[in-house]
Amino acid sequence: MQALKDKIKGEGKVLSDTVLKVDSFLNHQIDPQLMKEIGQEFADLFQKAEVTKIVTIESSGIAPATMAGLIMDIPVVFARKRKSLTLSKNLYTARVHSFTKNETNEISVSGDFIQPNDVVLIIDDFLANGQAVLGLIDIIKQAGADLAGVGIVIEKGFQSGGELLREQGIRVESLAIVSSLQNGEVVFAKGEQTE
Ligand code: 5GP
Repeated sequence: MQALKDKIKGEGKVLSDTVLKVDSFLNHQIDPQLMKEIGQEFADLFQKAEVTKIVTIESSGIAPATMAGLIMDIPVVFARKRKSLTLSKNLYTARVHSFTKNETNEISVSGDFIQPNDVVLIIDDFLANGQAVLGLIDIIKQAGADLAGVGIVIEKGFQSGGELLREQGIRVESLAIVSSLQNGEVVFAKGEQTE
């Protein structure tokens, strides 16, 4: 997705060989126009998958997931990282180790919002080692729902998540795949260059 790649090149900050900061449009400040285009792209990619629900994880997955949900006209559920007093019974939970924060969270989704007849599309901002997506897949399995696939805004192709999921036969669609962050430079995967 060219507009996304241009934005990453223009505003992304390489924090280390493994971490990309995109706080100006995705992870802190949000660019709604770009999010709308991202939502449209996911809607187009999964148009034929008969998706009934989008599932994401708070907080940075919510913006792209909501835009996709608006265009696909289906509800969006976000897994919570902290237990809420109002979220106590009938919960699906999974443990997720965060790549950027180096801590393990128990994520949870109310059983009221994923049903066995749902066909779920997972959307998240980044794919690194795949732990967040695997936690969401665990929850979808607990609910007995089907998985249509995974939509990722930025995949870091040099980390293991993409391969881990694809080798399980899971459909993963990433709008930008970064192949390297070495020497402070963002390089996109082959066929993904901005030039
Ligand atoms: P994974 O679970 O695939 O290892 O990591 C994905 C999660 O970690 C995403 O939900 C995202 O919030 C965060 N993450 C992973 N890599 C990066 C990165 O390079 N930059 C930012 N901003 N977040 C990341």
